[in-house]
Amino acid sequence: MSTALWTSAAMAEAMRAARRGALPNDVTGISIDSRTLTLGEAYFAIKGDVHDGHDFVEAALNNGAALAVVAKTHADKFAADARLLVVDDVLAGLVDLGRASRARLGGKVIAVTGSVGKTSTKEALRAVLGGQGETHASVASFNNHWGVPLTLARCPASAKFAIFEIGMNHAGEIEPLVKMVRPHVAIITTVEPVHLEFFSGIEAIADAKAEIFAGIEPGGAVVLNRDNAQFARLSKSAKAQKIERIVSFGSDEKADARLIDVSLHAACSAVRASILDQDITYKIGMPGRHMVMNSLAVLAAASLAGADLALSALALAQLKPATGRGVRQQLVLSEGTATLIDDSYNANPASMAAAITVLGQATVGPRGRRIAVLGDMLELGATGPDLHRGLAEAIKANGIDAVFCCGPLMHNLWEALPSTKKGGYADNSAALEPQVISAIGAGDAIMVKGSLGSRMKLIVTALQKRF
Ligand code: ATP
Ligand code: MG
Repeated sequence: MSTALWTSAAMAEAMRAARRGALPNDVTGISIDSRTLTLGEAYFAIKGDVHDGHDFVEAALNNGAALAVVAKTHADKFAADARLLVVDDVLAGLVDLGRASRARLGGKVIAVTGSVGKTSTKEALRAVLGGQGETHASVASFNNHWGVPLTLARCPASAKFAIFEIGMNHAGEIEPLVKMVRPHVAIITTVEPVHLEFFSGIEAIADAKAEIFAGIEPGGAVVLNRDNAQFARLSKSAKAQKIERIVSFGSDEKADARLIDVSLHAACSAVRASILDQDITYKIGMPGRHMVMNSLAVLAAASLAGADLALSALALAQLKPATGRGVRQQLVLSEGTATLIDDSYNANPASMAAAITVLGQATVGPRGRRIAVLGDMLELGATGPDLHRGLAEAIKANGIDAVFCCGPLMHNLWEALPSTKKGGYADNSAALEPQVISAIGAGDAIMVKGSLGSRMKLIVTALQKRF
């Protein structure tokens, strides 16, 4: 039996594609990027915002692609003997292949959506399930109209577990994606004021998340956050859509995956919980109460997918933060060390609150301070200024000693801070960076966070270079 991901014949059939050139029998993987493509993969010439993948077909074929999938309208551009599968539309072809992949899959499928915590939850599921059977999961945050079909098309037929991150910025985006994925279990991590500029309010965001129910397999389950204000709305919607099993997680007494006790430490947490009536104690190798709450959903979903609860819980101890999501590093200063917490990948009000809490728990030296370096949280619409100003509460409550604010929205927080906590302000990260560097002392813990567009990574890189 072939160990290839696809045969070119099966791909052609799934996409109703015309074949050209001497196609190899086996295809080892699916690529949409000629630069990272590895030998034997099929290259899909997807059209992005900036580039048209058709411009890189020759490069992909020269780099060892088994074949390229191209649109009929472009097919004449390539040599007569080029190894091609020709389709009407390349993205639609990828979706067709994704559907064929789902159809041949015998394993359990889990989908993860929510305003925040999707990737963290998906990666925790990957760690938990990976030790209990062949597991396939989305790369990074590949959670949109091309990321989801790509992840599906890449799924080996033999996978015992497949985990998909499903995201959205607008209403109507989740439904077609979940109908492709057809999960046995779907998690909604939480509903928060994110992308508010595209919604009339938090209920509208909840309703968009509820689109996930439309694609659940018959007999499937949903895992919902009982501590979240939108829980009642979501569970009502799940019932209306005849979802067989609604499982809740949280610290609420009625939660099916319930937090009993937790002790939060600088770099990990110890948890006691009841997961679907089984009591269990475990450690999570990442700090933060938000990760503890995510872990309840992870353990519930893994159990619903048939995994062993004790083995699942054991795997959580090995979790490590992903790049830009709370990775810790020691900076070496002349008079000692300081801790850098790089959370610069992205930010919204929920993840910002979580990160400030984690900074509040960070270990500092005798004269060390807890320093937050915060960039604008974008896409919040008219509520933006208030949501930034409101962070002053969390700064105070978590004992943060100094705050550096970056960007016009963060200026609202800057104005709300007491003068004793004002570290510095600049309207962009390049201008703020020297102020942060000159302020750092031995024993400090420095957390850097902001929306991707605020480019806070620049400050992280500068700190790493300097120390
Ligand atoms: P994206 O929409 O960018 O793909 P995501 O939903 O995948 O985001 P993650 O990447 O998992 O979210 O997490 C983003 C940030 O939110 C990280 O800083 C992480 O520590 C924090 N976070 C993770 N889970 C939660 C949670 N349940 N509540 C609040 N913050 C969280
Ligand atoms: Mg993500």
